[in-house]
Amino acid sequence: MKRSKTQDVFDVTFIGAGPTGLFGAFYAGLREMSVKVIDTLPQAGGQLIALYPEKLIFDTPGYPSILSRDLVSNLVKQTERWEPTMCFDEHCLGLRRDTLPGSEKGESCWVIETDRDLHYSHTVIIAAGIGAFRPVKLENESIDSFEGRGVHYMVKDLDSHVGERILIVGGGDSAVDWALALEPIAEHVTLIHRREGFRANDSSVNALKNSTVDVQLFYELRRVEGKKQVEGAIIFDNRTGEEKALQVDSIIFALGFKADLGPIREWGLDTIGRRYIKVNSKMETNLPGVYAAGDVALQEELDPLNLIVMGFGQVTVAVNYAYTVVLPGGKVFPGHSSERMATKEISS
Ligand SMILES: Cc1cc2nc3c(=O)[nH]c(=O)nc-3n(C[C@H](O)[C@H](O)[C@H](O)COP(=O)(O)OP(=O)(O)OC[C@H]3O[C@@H](n4cnc5c(N)ncnc54)[C@H](O)[C@@H]3O)c2cc1C
Repeated sequence: MKRSKTQDVFDVTFIGAGPTGLFGAFYAGLREMSVKVIDTLPQAGGQLIALYPEKLIFDTPGYPSILSRDLVSNLVKQTERWEPTMCFDEHCLGLRRDTLPGSEKGESCWVIETDRDLHYSHTVIIAAGIGAFRPVKLENESIDSFEGRGVHYMVKDLDSHVGERILIVGGGDSAVDWALALEPIAEHVTLIHRREGFRANDSSVNALKNSTVDVQLFYELRRVEGKKQVEGAIIFDNRTGEEKALQVDSIIFALGFKADLGPIREWGLDTIGRRYIKVNSKMETNLPGVYAAGDVALQEELDPLNLIVMGFGQVTVAVNYAYTVVLPGGKVFPGHSSERMATKEISS
């Protein structure tokens, strides 16, 4: 594979680390392209992690059923063998053509501007799903300063909460699922919810009732307390105003996520409605070297089929055509993985 003069210029950059971006990153690695993946979320998985980590998926080829979270772990493992550069907590704001860093002949490449950095790439595959996920946050000044210091919007790693006293805020699937997952390893789990009914799977709510999780209905958070780290929380009964003080090490807000295509709509891409980037059968957008795949992409003559398996197929098409942009004259057909991998002594 042809390499750029500057190591920082990648052959392909994926915007989005959902199943489409993850599988695409694997596939591009298989084609020996240098790969970067950028996502606003603090971890990989897109909708599978943000919206339904504990649900079973039944229509992934090869798996009669698989837990959403496990499918993401497998995709990450599959992708990691090529050691792609993963950039989390980063929101892609702009996309423009600019001079290739270090180029003496004035060659150009794509520049992705995020809220943190500039990323250079020969090709770009937009796998942005239904848009950038951002957690729903409470308007409460006492919370923001503790973000990353005991205040969390996702549980990245269960092990980091072993032995903790944990407060979970929310009444949906994620709140209930996290409470049940943390109960066996935490010292104590309290869950507060502002209403009586949960918006969660019945079997999970029943499991919650039979667990040791301290469920406090009609309670809301008044403020977070602590010096450098979270040390406690004041909660209040929204019917009476009565306050209670809890000693906690972590507070997990599970209030849902908002998804928004936002700035992507301003990149000069042809779109179909407000939700879709228009692509042709090669998954090319109207911008040369920029492709789209997965939930965000739509061919004009087709109806949307927003399914994981569609993203896998579409991103395979996009990667193989992107390859021919990075290596002009290169073959679209990659050969069979069984033959390619056999020469590389890679374990399964
Ligand atoms: C409750 C539920 C159940 C489902 N069950 C199934 C099922 O059983 N089977 C099935 O096949 N499908 C199912 N789906 C649909 C499936 O989840 C989607 O088709 C799939 O997630 C699409 O993957 P994707 O990678 O294209 O997009 P996403 O999973 O949406 O990932 C896109 C990623 O891009 C990131 N992103 C977006 N914009 C930016 C930006 N500007 N900068 C940085 N990052 C950005 C987002 O943060 C996100 O992480 C279900 C969906 C839901 C909501």
